[in-house]
This record gives sequence, C-alpha cells and structure tokens, in this order.
Amino acid sequence: MILTAPSPNFNHRTLPISMLVLHYTGMKTGVEALARLRDPTAKVSAHYLIEEDGHIFAMVAEHQRAWHAGLGCWRGITDVNSASIGIEIVNGGHDFGLPSFAEPQIKAVITLGLEIVKRHNIAAHNIVGHSDIAPGRKTDPGEHFPWQHLAKTGLGQWPKHSDLPVDNAKLYNDLAHIGYGFDNANAADIITAFQRHFLPEAISGQPCAQTCALAHTLARLTPGLDDAP
Ligand SMILES: [Zn+2]
Repeated sequence: MILTAPSPNFNHRTLPISMLVLHYTGMKTGVEALARLRDPTAKVSAHYLIEEDGHIFAMVAEHQRAWHAGLGCWRGITDVNSASIGIEIVNGGHDFGLPSFAEPQIKAVITLGLEIVKRHNIAAHNIVGHSDIAPGRKTDPGEHFPWQHLAKTGLGQWPKHSDLPVDNAKLYNDLAHIGYGFDNANAADIITAFQRHFLPEAISGQPCAQTCALAHTLARLTPGLDDAP
C-alpha cells in the first residue's frame, strides 16, 4: 500500500522521464528523513520514500520534478531531476554504520521500481544510484545495496565476471559509454562509484582486472548514446 506524504519541494520537468535514481536517506530515522523531505526550507524531496518495514510514502507526483539528484551527470543528461524518478530508501548509510537493508524494504523497492520502470519504459542501463550520477560527491545507496539481486528481478543490469588485462584508456572509454560523466568528476572517483555499484566487495578506486572486465561487459550491454536515451 502506498501512503501519501506530500512535499512542496518540486517544480516542472523540462525533460521526459528516462531514469530511475535510488538513494539512501543517510539519517538516523525514517521519521527525520520524511520531515526533511517535506520541509520547504530544506529544498529537497523525492517522489517516494520507502521505510525499513516496506511502507511506501508518495511525496511528489511522478510527472513533476522532485529535487533529489542535485549536480550530476548520466549519459550526457545533467538535469537529472528533470529526467528521473527518485526513490529515497530509509537507511542510516555511511554516517550511521552502513546498516544492511531490511528484506521487506528491498521487496518494496523492487515492487515499486518495476511498476515505475514499466510505466515510463525506463531502460535497464538508466537505473542508477545517486553515487553513479555524482561520483566523488555522493556515496548512496552504498555498497550494501543489493544491486545484483535487483538485476535478477529485472531492475537494472548485471555484468558477468571474467578478468581482462588492465587498460586504463579502454576502461575510461567503457565507463563513459555506460554513462559516467568524466566532465563532472575525476577518474578515481568514477572508478570508486562504479565499484560501489558493481564490485562492492573490492572498492579501491583503482583499475583492476575485474573492474576492467565488468565495465567492458556492461558497456557491451549498453546502447550507444545515438541509439537510446
Ligand atoms: Zn542521494
């Protein structure tokens, strides 16, 4: 069931919806996060917030532009708020011991996420974390977020492992093709963001054989910018 908790923090979209951005709240409790996302002076919001027990709050109508992404870039889109639906997932995050995500909460993320993706025809390569669009600035939803599990349910994509020789130029090329914005962040921050999403057990910010292989496999699954949004 979806409850409503309207936020005044939104305006009109200037782009069609083509992305889904997942966040953690990074605050001590869901109650605090919900209050902040509805506070007109905070100037932040999301379309939805999902509590640890799986309760979903609808805060901003999907056709409106919620304020969750801030400065960022994905596949050349810099006004990510205009192009995306944002979901805030209640979790203390890095500032509160990086707790794991509760099962009912992840189930709710998957149910709601699949509905949104179907409703707006969002491509798997455009289902991202806040850290993917803002490397070096944001770390949510964090390396405990079960991206691989989500991909198995049809939310997002997951590359297969097989090591490749380390080749920085090729890796940067693959990461840019996937969507990371090299104009907005440095290479180490982008590699860290990629690893936080796809190689959470080995976040180093350094190119390694696994990172190169994963990025190359994922890039081959991702259409070029000329082919799709
Ligand atoms: Zn965020």
